[in-house]
Amino acid sequence: MLKTHSCGELRLTHDGETVSLAGWVHRRRDHGGLIFIDLRDHDGLVQTVFNPQENAGAYAVADSCRGEYVLLAKGTVARRPKGTENASLPTGQIEVRVSEARVLNPAKTPPFYITEETEVEELLRLKYRYLDLRRETMHQNIVTRHRVVKFIRDFLSERGFTEIETPLLTAPTPEGARDYLVPSRVHAGHFYALPQSPQQFKQLLMVAGFERYFQIARCLRDEDLRADRQPEHTQLDLEMSFVSDEEDIFRLTEELYYSLAQTLFSDRPIQEHPFPRMTYEESVRRFGSDKPDLRYGLELVDFSEALRGTEFAVFRQVLASAGLVRGLCVPDGAAFSRKQTDDMTTFVQQYGAKGLVSMAFLGEGSIESLVEEEIRSPVAKYFSVEQAKGMARVAGAKRGDMLLLVADRPSVANRALDGLRRELAERLELYDPNVLAFAFLKDPPLFEWSDTENRWVSMHHPFTSPREKDLPLIDSDPGRVRSHAYDLVCNGWELFSGSIRIHQRDVQEKMFAVLGISAEEARRKFGHMLEAFEFGAPPHAGIGAGIDRLMAVLTGQPDIREVIAFPKTKSASEPLTGAPTTVSPEQLRELHLAVTKVEEEDERPAGR
Ligand code: ASP
Repeated sequence: MLKTHSCGELRLTHDGETVSLAGWVHRRRDHGGLIFIDLRDHDGLVQTVFNPQENAGAYAVADSCRGEYVLLAKGTVARRPKGTENASLPTGQIEVRVSEARVLNPAKTPPFYITEETEVEELLRLKYRYLDLRRETMHQNIVTRHRVVKFIRDFLSERGFTEIETPLLTAPTPEGARDYLVPSRVHAGHFYALPQSPQQFKQLLMVAGFERYFQIARCLRDEDLRADRQPEHTQLDLEMSFVSDEEDIFRLTEELYYSLAQTLFSDRPIQEHPFPRMTYEESVRRFGSDKPDLRYGLELVDFSEALRGTEFAVFRQVLASAGLVRGLCVPDGAAFSRKQTDDMTTFVQQYGAKGLVSMAFLGEGSIESLVEEEIRSPVAKYFSVEQAKGMARVAGAKRGDMLLLVADRPSVANRALDGLRRELAERLELYDPNVLAFAFLKDPPLFEWSDTENRWVSMHHPFTSPREKDLPLIDSDPGRVRSHAYDLVCNGWELFSGSIRIHQRDVQEKMFAVLGISAEEARRKFGHMLEAFEFGAPPHAGIGAGIDRLMAVLTGQPDIREVIAFPKTKSASEPLTGAPTTVSPEQLRELHLAVTKVEEEDERPAGR
């Protein structure tokens, strides 16, 4: 190797040793006669010193260096002169006095600072990702990701899991997204689908008798991108046979996530352990969401009962048409300005809510002594003092607090209030961002109604088993059938979902039938699964856990792109390589394809 040591590893214990280092010129300072270069490599930084009196040749090389030059430097490790130590740098007690140096490769001036964590436009970062990844935070994110994945691999291997790869070129498996398709050259007009997940293969591996499988698997889904979604994401895909109920999965994964966080992120307190378990229904009722952030309270309050018979027409109409009036009680919210409340109204409108009604309780003393003048609300005139007190009671509001109410269809009201709850918690700093609040959610509905498709669709996927006691409802009232699916959430993110699977042919066929898949179609698309279930399929269950999301939560990044080495933009393109690209007419001919429209470069959606 060109180097005997890494830059970041040198300490006082190396004092007096001759070393050979290689890395990038991080910073160069010319101090009247002496040149100091902070040399950077994968492990860290060390200060090197070039003295023209001691070695004119090395000094001349240092003099010619600019930022990001690749430099080889040989010299002696020495204790830094008193008063020049740098306590914030692990190598800050020493420096390397260089006797020989060589530029291995010069560098152009980078398009942004590598040495400083300044805000850089995302497109530029992605175009020069190899430079972006040199920056400290990004570099650390990727290294930490490796440690996390290694921890997972070791943890599972020690517990009898076998890592098995499954195909990328395969048949579609439904996970609720569009497929990425790959045309077959050999079979004209036929396509492979890239896997939305290894779902079917991992179940088949259970039939194959592996009992405990996992894979760090790439999953590809063509859907609209968001902060927590990319066209391709990495999953810890896991499956286990002979699971008796959800708790078997919860215990294993609880130990995995708990020990991972404790070992690699010991500065992040875990709010509750064992992780709380909650039904899906409870989560939606209390937080308006199936991925609740449990680091703070601010739970949703249902005012529908308290408001029966209200004179306020907006509320009355919503309640009469199966809607809800729900809201939040903001502690000390009466101090909000008019503008702040208006902003929040605009905020909930993004979620499709028609409006936001505020009601603040002013004055001193118990809520029971409230008088008319102490109720501040744009709709105060529609409410008697008694009704206002009733609402305060339901919400547990004190004077100085403010209620914020949304009246709408349940799905809209919940979505809007979930968003508002998160926004307020952040603005009011209601939580410690360092805390990790994990929780398991269980018993969600098996199906949801799709207005666009006009049929029942799977909430999770069609291989999820129904709860046995709800089975009688499967024909008469599918919407009320709950499933053996579950999720792990943390700080408002969904970290995994999974389920106990169907392992009997007749139940799987029934499931397809309710989903509107004809027997013929089921045989054509999933005949291999149905058949496998007839050859001694063991009961089994598993999870698909987002590695990118886990990394974003653990490293405190707002977007999974910050923890992926080469992510795509929000319009699913890759500025570095230019993908997706056009292909030559020969390639199209070979694949038996004709393209009907080619987007001009300036029509292509740029950036995020
Ligand atoms: N295949 C599922 C998913 O990707 C996870 C699972 O059920 O194991 O969400």
